[in-house]
Amino acid sequence: MIRHSYLSPKVEVRRSGIDRRGVFAKSTIKKDEIIAIWGGHIITEGQFRQLKKKEFPDIDDYATKIAKGFYLVSSPKGVLEDDDFFNHSCQPNAGIKGHIMMVAMRRIKPGEEITYDYCMTDADFNYSFRCQCGLPNCRKIITTRDWQNPSLQRKYRGYFSWYVQHKIDQQRKKRSQR
Ligand SMILES: [Zn+2]
Repeated sequence: MIRHSYLSPKVEVRRSGIDRRGVFAKSTIKKDEIIAIWGGHIITEGQFRQLKKKEFPDIDDYATKIAKGFYLVSSPKGVLEDDDFFNHSCQPNAGIKGHIMMVAMRRIKPGEEITYDYCMTDADFNYSFRCQCGLPNCRKIITTRDWQNPSLQRKYRGYFSWYVQHKIDQQRKKRSQR
């Protein structure tokens, strides 16, 4: 079956301690290897708001912002695919390239859950949640403003989505003009 997104044959969805479900490595994944490529539908800001009102109330959790006014979703009906189950971690093993590609930031061993930091992709959404990653550097409350944190910007350099990196660059430009 052809799905909207690509998911490496080395991973699968299993029950997770972070959320109900997560994506796990079945075999070793090398640094920089492609784990997922997100596909689906490009929708406008107006369509996003409509869907949020009716068919897809938790769309903020699953959409990727592509540019000002545009989002990518696996399915506009809110039907989730396996690539929608990547959980957040404050010490992730995967990062983002471009808009739609998830790659390993380091070697990932079989059985490890594959996670990324939601600040890598999420800037303008309106959510916050209590993080369950349980790691020593856990931020506890994750918000869609975390990308503004300079230490996270340094930590994930080269692994932010194009849109979030664009916002970081704009913010920097504004600061230097002051
Ligand atoms: Zn955490």
